[in-house]
Amino acid sequence: MKELLIRGADHLLTMDDQRRELTGADVLIRGGTVAGVGSDLQSDAPVLDATGCVVTPGLVNTHHHLYQSLTRAVPGGQDALLFGWLQTLYPIWARFTPEHFFTSAEVGLCELALSGCTLSSDHLYLYPNGARLEDTIHAAAEVGLRFHPTRGAMSIGVSRGGLPPDDLVEREADILEDCIRVIDAFHDPADGSMCRVGVAPCSPFSVSRDLMRDAAVLARDKGVMMHTHLAENDEDIAYSLETFGCRPGQYAEELGWVGPDVWHAHCVKLDASEQALFARTKTGVAHCPCSNCRLGSGIAPVRAMRDAGVPVGLGVDGSASNDAGNLVAEARQAMLLQRVASGADAMSAREALEIATRGGAEVLGRSDCGRIEPGARADIAIWDVSGIEAAGSWDPAALLLAGPVTVRDLLVEGRVIVRDGQVQTLDMAGLIARQNRLAADLRETL
Ligand SMILES: [Zn+2]
Repeated sequence: MKELLIRGADHLLTMDDQRRELTGADVLIRGGTVAGVGSDLQSDAPVLDATGCVVTPGLVNTHHHLYQSLTRAVPGGQDALLFGWLQTLYPIWARFTPEHFFTSAEVGLCELALSGCTLSSDHLYLYPNGARLEDTIHAAAEVGLRFHPTRGAMSIGVSRGGLPPDDLVEREADILEDCIRVIDAFHDPADGSMCRVGVAPCSPFSVSRDLMRDAAVLARDKGVMMHTHLAENDEDIAYSLETFGCRPGQYAEELGWVGPDVWHAHCVKLDASEQALFARTKTGVAHCPCSNCRLGSGIAPVRAMRDAGVPVGLGVDGSASNDAGNLVAEARQAMLLQRVASGADAMSAREALEIATRGGAEVLGRSDCGRIEPGARADIAIWDVSGIEAAGSWDPAALLLAGPVTVRDLLVEGRVIVRDGQVQTLDMAGLIARQNRLAADLRETL
């Protein structure tokens, strides 16, 4: 079985149950898993020298819309609130083809890989012009990241009181049928799985109560996870009160949308009783601090949720509302935002990194990821701290305070995806050119 020895890391943040930090540490990888952690490990395996580096588990991204990499910094959406922002972008997204979904997923996943991410979920909820979920699954296989795509959906268009235009919504029977198709074709529940499919109606304001309930029944029947947007901002809460006569947490609970197999994006506005509900049921949250800042949604109560026992992971959210997709930068933002809300001792650099690694892995149901210990998957990020960003640092392991925002090397399932800051699996210049050509064509036909 193929082996690799990561040798002599200045600092190793294991994120194991004891949160051990080792210096001068080695990590032995055999096949797709970690075989040993310690000092001066004996092995004939090829060596990856990690002196001058901090080694961490690969980061886990729990919320994204990869297709949006093609609509970064769209002028009409730069300064709009959530609902207005969506209404600007829907007509552009309606013109996407499978090529747009594939290429923008490759771009988003490469950007994530360079920022330390080894496992990403994705939430794809519109399927115009013959697009299918596998357009993104094929992109993830090309890049080499572990991937949890979710089959999103919208079914309530403008003519029925919803937000999206009618040509972007689907029939609910078709949605459920396609969920079954993609789960049967692509979901792999095995240990070390590289692809797990989830079921993910877009949000309570774009699908019916029936679809939310049916989707939950289907997901549980198939043994897959469930994901949606919830309690993102004040408009979202007002919509829930007005339309459903209850807060989003109660709506989710009534329709079966709580439990360890569910995670919700944002949850900026969860109140104390909703936080207690999520903690009791181990319902996960994908915290997306940059997107929340960008859309002015507010500061999610991450400190309170963590203290209550809610599983919290990190997400970059789609590139139309970030507009970057750098996951380690997102972790820094998470740390800073909790400090804005609750003081300088509200969140340490190490805790934010924990949320970005084992926190996200827990939210996605992947206890085999997000930590470096024997038996865990060999998903590892290697950060060179000998550069200008960390020069003078007294604690290079406090990566989020002073450190690089791109990896030197990245391993997924023991395979080298990034080496010396370069993605190894794709021609990056060609990819950027393809993406820019697609974006230019979309702009011209506006
Ligand atoms: Zn989102």
